[in-house]
Amino acid sequence: MSHHTGTARQVTSDPSSVDDSDCTILHVDMDAFFAMVEVRRRPELRGVPMMVAGASGGRGVVLSATYEARVSGVRSAMPTSAAMALCPGIVVVPPDHSAYAEASRAVMRMFADVTPLVEPLSVDEAFLDVAGARRRYGRPGFIAANLRARIRAELGLTATVGAASTKFVAKLASSLAKPDGLLLVPPSRVLDLLHPLPVRALWGVGPKTATRLASMGLITVGEIAAMDLPMLIGALGKANGIRLHDLAWGRDNRRVQGSSAADSSVGAESTFAVDSADPSFLAREMLALAEKTARRARLAGVRGRTISIKVRYEDFTTVTRSVTLSSPTDLSHTVYATALELLSKLRASGGGRVRLLGVRLEGLRPDDDVGEQLELGSGDPRPGWREAENAVDRAVARFGTSAIRPAALVERPERPRWSTRVCENRPDSDAR
Ligand SMILES: [Mg+2]
Repeated sequence: MSHHTGTARQVTSDPSSVDDSDCTILHVDMDAFFAMVEVRRRPELRGVPMMVAGASGGRGVVLSATYEARVSGVRSAMPTSAAMALCPGIVVVPPDHSAYAEASRAVMRMFADVTPLVEPLSVDEAFLDVAGARRRYGRPGFIAANLRARIRAELGLTATVGAASTKFVAKLASSLAKPDGLLLVPPSRVLDLLHPLPVRALWGVGPKTATRLASMGLITVGEIAAMDLPMLIGALGKANGIRLHDLAWGRDNRRVQGSSAADSSVGAESTFAVDSADPSFLAREMLALAEKTARRARLAGVRGRTISIKVRYEDFTTVTRSVTLSSPTDLSHTVYATALELLSKLRASGGGRVRLLGVRLEGLRPDDDVGEQLELGSGDPRPGWREAENAVDRAVARFGTSAIRPAALVERPERPRWSTRVCENRPDSDAR
């Protein structure tokens, strides 16, 4: 066996040679994250078998190991002493969790630059839904390649990306492409990739289930796919049987979820130079904030269903109100009309002069998920608005001014149709 100190294998799909248009879910996973953060600040460790690990004497375990250590069999979570036995001379570095937390924030910020739809799975890995980002940044393969290049250039770290049309296959692809790789798996290639793999490749199949499946003669994913579904259900129970059968056929309809409503939102707020109770002043400010918010959503290629406003009074009391529309929107008109109505209702119940106004659009989804037929039932106004607002976006991009807007937006916003009302009065976390 040849001894090599470099990476074992690299998988890199050439985005120009694959039809990646449907590979809109990226699973991005940093390579040997803690270890590479250490290597970054101590270049003499580059190319050396090294691990970040707890105390070598006691019950410490390996937290992260370079690929040079992994070729000797060193793995995360194994006892430090076992790793030292496998790889004599391995450099042991004690963990510096604040350095990893800081690196993690930098990585997550870079993900958020690509799309607001980021679902972190741990400090160093996340799903990104880039369906809405395609219009602005190009095909998913290029988005993934650019993200990897940026992580390398700006953070001095490497990341592996798997891209597919489902979360399950994207995560599987990144595990197959590690380290420092990119693997794009279009829908037409999923079954060729999946079926020869061992059953453990399926999400949720641990050693126990694998043993159970082996006892039924099921060793590969393809054998699960070929299995009669009622028999699979009989052996594993209904939920597990159906889930594994679906996964074996590449079916997984879980969506990328922002980690919280706040992370999956766009918005704008403004603190006034002088506190005001003037309704027309407040309406004008609300219009500017609604336009900014909706434009951010359109640029990111996302729409949201919940619109919320924040009002902070001169005494710093802060109130929020929100409402959920029957379908998602990215239109300034709808955001404005809704926010204005929430504000009028709030003002009708009293309150003093206003110091700050804010608007947010929450519960974001990529806008290509929204079928045109759904728009009929939405809170959005008549057809033509989208074209008008897109034209405004182009004019703003070209002339750099936001003083351009459809005239009717200013005059008389149509009230959107609301389905569910979620008006609540919750104290704001950053209120004084
Ligand atoms: Mg990782």
